[in-house]
Amino acid sequence: MPSRPHAAGLVDRFGRVAEDLRVSLTDRCNLRCTYCMPEEGLAWLPKQTLLTDDEVVRLVRVAAERLGVTEIRFTGGEPLLRPGIVGIVAGAAALRPRPRLSVTTNGIGLARLAAPLAAAGLDRVNVSLDTLRPEQFQALARRRRLEEVFEGLRAADAAGLRPVKLNAVLMRGINDDEAVDLLSFALAHGYELRFIEQMPLDAQHAWRREDMVAGEEILAQLRSVFTLSPDPAERGAAPAETWLVEGHAAADGGPAKVGVIASVTQPFCGACDRTRLTADGQVRNCLFSQDETDLRGLLRGGSSDDELAQAWRAAMWGKRAGHGIDDPSFLQPARPMSAIGG
Ligand code: SAM
Repeated sequence: MPSRPHAAGLVDRFGRVAEDLRVSLTDRCNLRCTYCMPEEGLAWLPKQTLLTDDEVVRLVRVAAERLGVTEIRFTGGEPLLRPGIVGIVAGAAALRPRPRLSVTTNGIGLARLAAPLAAAGLDRVNVSLDTLRPEQFQALARRRRLEEVFEGLRAADAAGLRPVKLNAVLMRGINDDEAVDLLSFALAHGYELRFIEQMPLDAQHAWRREDMVAGEEILAQLRSVFTLSPDPAERGAAPAETWLVEGHAAADGGPAKVGVIASVTQPFCGACDRTRLTADGQVRNCLFSQDETDLRGLLRGGSSDDELAQAWRAAMWGKRAGHGIDDPSFLQPARPMSAIGG
């Protein structure tokens, strides 16, 4: 491996620069989505290994002030279950340069938290919504809480956490016929919808490529009803390839869009600008990486901000060219998505 050049930011040996940080605030969740968690039996991270609120804010500060991170997304598990989330967002919003701040959530709890989070400085939310039908929600998420997700969406919109983005994963035989309905719902409410291909990150290791609903199939469903044209906007490092939905306007008056994140069938690793911090203080340079760098140990061992930044840079320098799902040697990471932070 070539040696790392002297650079302040999170560069890797393929020339990518990570500016987008995903921070997991907890591995716990109040849903049990089949593509993510088992019904029961998943051990939680031990409490003493979880970063405290102050430790999270310190690492986020190192990222924004020393490492060039400009975008921070809080996730989990379910980040709204973290009691200190409003204070953590306020701490991140006080940083200079101020990063853009968002949360990925299942929406449960947003009815109560959207306004305080907006007041603390949150810019927007991504809400996961895989189905509009209560029975399918029960089959997918193993809980009867769909109505709370809708309440959360309304609260996010009312609090100005816009654009409200929706994430949907389609599962074969459960909700694979809902692409059109989900887009109609998003268009009617001024939400921006993105479909995500199911990835091999479930705790049960039950993912099978043959079962996955691929991006092309989703687009074919959408095109049976909507006219989609390529989005002329520069894609950059965005994971979603986006299309304009002709004849529909977005909430801001611009053209309505729909996105597909085809992580499996059309990987976008070459443009990846993400770095990840788990709830127990490990840096991961990829969703699928087998290695982690322990910032919690360094932090609790008395390391300076400079030393933490240097360890983070070294972690990113080792990032692989791609996730390698198609390689015969591919190994699913030991951590499930819920403990990495999606
Ligand atoms: N609990 C929050 C939520 O539901 O959005 C945040 C964490 S969740 C792990 C983040 C996103 O990852 C969700 O949109 C979820 O649908 C997606 N996700 C989880 N497991 C996935 C998988 N195996 N493949 C693709 N997306 C997945």
